[in-house]
Amino acid sequence: MSGHDAKVIAIDGPAGAGKSTIARALAARLGLDYLDTGAMYRAVTFAAMHRGVPVDDVPAVAELARALQLEVGDDGVFVDGLDATDQIRRSDVTTAVSAIASNSDVRTELRNRQREWADAHGGGVIEGRDIGSVVFPDARLKLYLTASPRVRAERRVAEAGGDVDEIERAIAVRDGHDVGRADGGLREADGSRTVDTTGLSIEEVLEAIVGLLEGDE
Ligand code: C5P
Repeated sequence: MSGHDAKVIAIDGPAGAGKSTIARALAARLGLDYLDTGAMYRAVTFAAMHRGVPVDDVPAVAELARALQLEVGDDGVFVDGLDATDQIRRSDVTTAVSAIASNSDVRTELRNRQREWADAHGGGVIEGRDIGSVVFPDARLKLYLTASPRVRAERRVAEAGGDVDEIERAIAVRDGHDVGRADGGLREADGSRTVDTTGLSIEEVLEAIVGLLEGDE
């Protein structure tokens, strides 16, 4: 367990629920650093594809994850010193990431790095799928952000374009992988607070979360 659990705010939830936007804004508001753990899984996926390592080759991908020099921060995502900020958002990476995320050895490695990050940064706002349930079970606040599938698809279209029906179907497939994964499957962590962001503005979600933090003090 990290020594900084008490200073971590854990945000989990499905794709498109608003985790990144809210986590970033909340971190700025509270003067904490922000970590996008999905970017770490994406970076391992991109590195495997880039090097021709099959994403379902469990031992080879685990070895790659352990050896990878990985920086995820405000300046972008760097894999072995190369800027991969845009590449990790490619649709072929998004499709392949579920295979990497179901690799338990990769999860162990990335969870260790997430705990080290929290120790080095004195806590932070950390978002992903298993942050409150597995990585920081004693976090100061555990949030589960959700929204209706349609709204989540519409947000993705607003960010990156595309056909809303197609994106809604792709999100449903990824939800299935995220929820069904034996290790680190997406679920509401014990003691987590659920915020349904459907129909709420970013500011309204932030106010709701700040209210929860103040209520817990
Ligand atoms: O958050 P984002 O959609 O970028 O995450 C990409 C993928 O990484 C997710 O679909 C999920 O499979 C995986 N992931 C995970 N555990 C986390 C964060 C992300 O398995 N803590």
